[in-house]
Amino acid sequence: MQQGCVNFVFMGIKRKTKSVTTVLNIFEASHDAKSVVSLITLVKNEMNKTTVYRILDRLEQDGLIHSFNGKDGLKWYAKCNGCTSHKHFDTHPHFQCTKCDKVECLTVDISIPNIKNHNIETADILLMGQCEACCS
Ligand SMILES: [Zn+2]
Ligand SMILES: [Zn+2]
Ligand SMILES: [Zn+2]
Repeated sequence: MQQGCVNFVFMGIKRKTKSVTTVLNIFEASHDAKSVVSLITLVKNEMNKTTVYRILDRLEQDGLIHSFNGKDGLKWYAKCNGCTSHKHFDTHPHFQCTKCDKVECLTVDISIPNIKNHNIETADILLMGQCEACCS
């Protein structure tokens, strides 16, 4: 038996509240990205908009989720893979289906060009077309 073990430390989140768990579970359940609008709708019976924004910010700072811009400048969030509270490694491109609006993280490498006298830190690449389900 380990005495004095802190069970609630989850990355930088000291106390994992019920609301945080609810939002995290949405990302754990599927690899698809979620727009801020759809997240707010999904949890509207449990928390208000401000809480959702605050939780998303916190989870992003903790390296659990990352955000990017989709079609029409809408903000999307998706689960991170191997990111930490110190650094995100999310230079992968994203894909948005023009038929069903599904958004996915793509696990392909994109070569970022070296630009003279410029330092590239992040890449926001959105590819659009039809997803697997819409193609068949
Ligand atoms: Zn990340
Ligand atoms: Zn589709
Ligand atoms: Zn992604």
